[in-house]
Amino acid sequence: MDVLIVEDDDSMAAALTAAVKSTGHGATRVARGTDALLRHRDFDVILLDLGLPDMDGLEVLRKLRQVSDSPILILTARDDERSVVLGLRSGADDYLIKPVKLVELLARIEAVTRRTKVSGGRRTPHIRLGELAIDLDRRVAEIAGTELALTPTEFDLLSLLARNAGSVVTREQILDALWGDAFLASSRSLDVHLTGLRSKLSLPGFIVNVRGVGYRIEADPQ
Ligand code: CA
Repeated sequence: MDVLIVEDDDSMAAALTAAVKSTGHGATRVARGTDALLRHRDFDVILLDLGLPDMDGLEVLRKLRQVSDSPILILTARDDERSVVLGLRSGADDYLIKPVKLVELLARIEAVTRRTKVSGGRRTPHIRLGELAIDLDRRVAEIAGTELALTPTEFDLLSLLARNAGSVVTREQILDALWGDAFLASSRSLDVHLTGLRSKLSLPGFIVNVRGVGYRIEADPQ
């Protein structure tokens, strides 16, 4: 299991990294929220501090939850009830308040990953919409049984829209989800990927433009 530790405090990060590694798991530390958003895909569990230098941890959590079902544990000094409730409502699997005993932390990590495994993961590994079938684990999309030759970004874009079928996904949400930050990503490059995806799907009208807002795939396409 590979654990991503998002923690800006060097000594805290060193202690957490050592504790996780002592149990034979992999541990990688990043100090900024944007790095967590860019790198989260390579990890099985995310340990998230809330007080980060570049953005609030709760914001990181919300953005991660739009694109990831990996277990996320918040580890923070904020012990007020509002933060705890907000954290759990925003999709955290567990909430630990610093200082935390490392033994307890490791037990909670094990518990959260066990729960996720038992339930077979909370992500829906397969999405079917009309003729389109997406296998999220294998990252394969098919139309009527024929595999589409999608680039990784086109696949992510299609999965994001398909997971939210029936609802509009705004351009900003897409930029955030695919590039981690709407400000870093160029709106123009989204248009390029979208054009590529549409031509490969060759299902006219499958991805609906919602003018001035974003895009939508119908929940029950013809
Ligand atoms: Ca901090």
